[in-house]
Amino acid sequence: MDRLTRFDEPLPETTPPDPADWGSLSAPEVLAPLLGRRFACPACGAVHVLRTRRIETSETALARSGELLEGMGFAGQPVVLFDTRTYAACGPALTDGLARFSPRPMILQGDDLHADERLVGSLLIAMSDDPPFLVSCGSGCLTDTTRYVALRCRLPFVSVATAASMDGYASSNTPLIVGGFKISYPGKAPEAILSDPRVLAKAPRAMTAAGFGDVLAKIVALLDWKLARDLEGESYCPLVADLVDKAVGECLALAGDLAGGSPSAVARLLDVLSLTGVAMQMMGTSRPASGAEHHISHLLEMRDIQRGRHGSLHGDKVGIGTLVSMAMYLRMFGDGALPAQRPTLPAAAWEREVRRVYGPLADEAIAKNAPEPPSGAAWEAQRRRLARSMDEYGYAAVRSFRTLLPKARDDMAALGGPTRPDQLGYGPEDTFDAICFGKEVRPKFTLLRLAERFGWLYDLGREIADGLPRGVIY
Ligand SMILES: [Zn+2]
Ligand SMILES: [Zn+2]
Repeated sequence: MDRLTRFDEPLPETTPPDPADWGSLSAPEVLAPLLGRRFACPACGAVHVLRTRRIETSETALARSGELLEGMGFAGQPVVLFDTRTYAACGPALTDGLARFSPRPMILQGDDLHADERLVGSLLIAMSDDPPFLVSCGSGCLTDTTRYVALRCRLPFVSVATAASMDGYASSNTPLIVGGFKISYPGKAPEAILSDPRVLAKAPRAMTAAGFGDVLAKIVALLDWKLARDLEGESYCPLVADLVDKAVGECLALAGDLAGGSPSAVARLLDVLSLTGVAMQMMGTSRPASGAEHHISHLLEMRDIQRGRHGSLHGDKVGIGTLVSMAMYLRMFGDGALPAQRPTLPAAAWEREVRRVYGPLADEAIAKNAPEPPSGAAWEAQRRRLARSMDEYGYAAVRSFRTLLPKARDDMAALGGPTRPDQLGYGPEDTFDAICFGKEVRPKFTLLRLAERFGWLYDLGREIADGLPRGVIY
């Protein structure tokens, strides 16, 4: 089969969005003409690339999938990856829709599937007749497996989403479990994301709760990002930040409908999750969608893998990380002033702790992170910039957490999602490690780094970890 080489061509350039439309970029019809295009951003000066060309969430999306994909230039016989649950949810509808391509379904058996060596190998073996493109029909695990294989085999792929459970559909990063460790590999963003709201609404409610948690995360991620811009000069785009901020606001307003299982609310949740994925494509990093709360969740996830425990959903841990991060912001900045400086952890003690927490991954964590937070004049200068930023927007954001935190907690609970680590089987020590050493996952500035620089992180970590199971933190 010939390769579909047109998918390798650079995306065409388009005119940037009209400033009059900037406020409504989170509306699918406003964003749609920018999908599959690149444009020079009038707001930040960078070129934003929107790799995914089509996002279609509708009751006819699966029935029309063949027509849609043919219109995008797809041809030949794809392998379509399902698991038994996603095949039951929409297998026949999707394979009927794709009938003109004579798709070859591959249905993975078993309940406890992970994006790991076994799944990557299984998919590669199923590709013995060189399919020209791949379709994944599922959520995180199948999409990640497919995006990794798609990159390695230089094939385009299409994601058919079956649950509004996470924002990774539009991602190009691939977290894979290799040798028992979760490692982030490059991958490919899908050419299209298709879904049927009725299928999304029938997914287990816990998956919708997890997706809601992954949306809540953006509240912390956006504040972390702004502070990273001001303290560390990180690149920032007000257009992208605004797009995510608006989408998140709309989603929060839908909490009641989501709890009632409304298909249109779940469809909007998926759109918002896809949109935040597109925001990551635009920045070329996870910044617009991931901050301290994701670092906390990564460490909890690592704990599951270290213990060989069947993990919970990504968004569950991210939602908890979001509540914890809001509580930390409130503790540190809720008085409307910078926190008092406390002693920071000496380098030797830090290294000992990283070795304890990261085990065999410690060398890598130590190599990529500075042993001590900035001090002296560098920290003084950062503190001055922080004081300005907090006055400008930070204190107002933190004040909003006073009402947002209990509301988010109650919304998550109403959706049936967990709000505290102990509900997922984590003890206070796991929570302490996640708060205090989640930051070593990546040398990226977040609230956790800020707490470290003020010397508050380890005390706060202890207080929150011990207080959460007793219900005294939030
Ligand atoms: Zn921009
Ligand atoms: Zn996430």
